[in-house]
Amino acid sequence: MANGVEQQGRGLASWRVSGLRQELDEGDGEVLARAARALGIEPEAVRGQRFARRSIDARGRGRDLHFVCQVDLVVPDRPKTPRLRRLIRSGKVAATPSPEGLAVEGEPGSRLVVVGAGPGGLFAALAGALSGAEVTLVERGEAIERRGRKVVAFHRGAAPDPDNNLLFGDGGAGTYSDGKLYTRVSDPLETAVIDELVQAGAPADIAFDARAHIGTDVLHRMLPRLRRRLEELGVRFCYGVRATGVEASDGADGRSVRALLTTDGAIELDALVLCIGHSARDTWAWLAEAGVAMEAKPFQVGVRIEHPQELITRGRYGPDPRGEVLGPASYNLQSRAEVPAHSFCMCPGGRIVASVSEPGGLCTNGMSNSRHSSRWANAALVTTLEPAAVEALGHRGPLAGVELQRELERRFFDAGGGTYAAPAQRASDFLDRRRSSGELRTSYGFGATAARLDSLLPGLVREAIAGALDRFERAIPGFAGDQGLLVGIETRSSGPVRLPRDRTAFRAQGFSNLFPAGEGAGYAGGIMSAAIDGARAARAAVAGGHRSGTSPAR
Ligand SMILES: Cc1cc2nc3c(=O)[nH]c(=O)nc-3n(C[C@H](O)[C@H](O)[C@H](O)COP(=O)(O)OP(=O)(O)OC[C@H]3O[C@@H](n4cnc5c(N)ncnc54)[C@H](O)[C@@H]3O)c2cc1C
Repeated sequence: MANGVEQQGRGLASWRVSGLRQELDEGDGEVLARAARALGIEPEAVRGQRFARRSIDARGRGRDLHFVCQVDLVVPDRPKTPRLRRLIRSGKVAATPSPEGLAVEGEPGSRLVVVGAGPGGLFAALAGALSGAEVTLVERGEAIERRGRKVVAFHRGAAPDPDNNLLFGDGGAGTYSDGKLYTRVSDPLETAVIDELVQAGAPADIAFDARAHIGTDVLHRMLPRLRRRLEELGVRFCYGVRATGVEASDGADGRSVRALLTTDGAIELDALVLCIGHSARDTWAWLAEAGVAMEAKPFQVGVRIEHPQELITRGRYGPDPRGEVLGPASYNLQSRAEVPAHSFCMCPGGRIVASVSEPGGLCTNGMSNSRHSSRWANAALVTTLEPAAVEALGHRGPLAGVELQRELERRFFDAGGGTYAAPAQRASDFLDRRRSSGELRTSYGFGATAARLDSLLPGLVREAIAGALDRFERAIPGFAGDQGLLVGIETRSSGPVRLPRDRTAFRAQGFSNLFPAGEGAGYAGGIMSAAIDGARAARAAVAGGHRSGTSPAR
């Protein structure tokens, strides 16, 4: 793929052309040439070009499979023709958005402490270090190599380690995942984040492929490289160190944190960025005691659903043999039934995993390797619970969602037999409200135990899932039949808590130098958005947001 969009400069203009059709067997050059002609320019006159996005259009169950593309072109800057004006008005052509760098002009040597080495914390540390701050990164779990060994031990029967599991440790929650980067946020920092991920070993097509995913195996190889990059920039890593509190005092601009208290002593600081993730239950508890503002936010509850991958691929791409070149199909479905539900975090060719951070509670999620090579397809099937719905289920206050998650996770753990085996029910039996019989085959390592998920789930969630099964069957035949297995429970698709921030400066309300970011603060949902939010929070912190209340423009 040609790539020269950076050549934009004097006398040149950069345009993004959208809605370009590409046949499955059509070369990139032909699409790029068509994009140029759409602008009224001969392809030879183009100075730089690249794909900005490419997605599959599989509507009509594969009867007209093709790609839909966006292309960026750098071309000689000429007065706009009536044709170009028309294309701009119709939304088919727009100026290519200007990317931003991660660094910001900061106060050299300011002491920035970041909690959490997930995507939010890693990119906060990177943005801080590139901006000249002295960065310390505190992570309760171990570096990926040791974390991996503890995760394996859990799967071999050891008790879950509260600091090293599928949710906590180097790389954060998404380290055992499909590593999909679909949740694009159209942010000017996106290009900088993607460039760093590619430098660390992610496939180059994450820059434009709408189905881009990294895979657990590649993510594990990337993390040590990202760590080396950060260490070369001077970032000090403190693994196996848990943040347990803050030392703060009142100042002219509100409370000011002087030091982070940890299991390894106090760390003095000028600014603190918290990227603690969506499962930071004990951390939210001490933050609330320290006076950090906190509120309940909507979050998702449901189950995982698993099918043979072949059923999904056939259902999405139909009988067209060209579909094979696309590999295992994925889906992203919404039900607008009375109680809505949607699929989430679909893992083609993946497996179901135990997203457990506390002993005695069960929670499922999904992961896959880079080749999507398992014969199973799984996805979350969830509905969004508003704080009022959680209150109706008997839980109040900012941490009401955490209480409900715990209650449900314990209920499912017990129903699974107390061994991390997951309660499971065929989709058809769920709809008929009966226990499944016979062998329940699943990719889930701890195995499945037949149970009445329809009775274990809160009524609202049951209703949402039943409505979704009904509708999704129309999109993918067999989805709600005997080959669909519901496995649960899924409570950690998103966080139930928000730490409200000052609107422009990313600061926790009432604090002058505390910057909550990422999914644990309620401002992100996925690897890309967490990375960008972490970077933005760190930029605000080092740009002097903690002293003057100013921050770089969003
Ligand atoms: C199994 C699974 C699969 C997923 N798949 C995808 C996917 O394919 N694509 C996608 O975009 N998203 C996926 N996600 C979601 C994604 O992982 C998260 O949105 C993202 O990791 C959030 O980043 P974060 O930095 O905000 O928090 P996290 O990644 O959760 O990182 C928080 C870190 O903070 C640390 N921490 C917490 N409290 C403390 C403390 N007191 N002291 C020290 N350290 C602390 C934790 O150990 C953790 O490492 C998946 C999540 C899971 C669980």
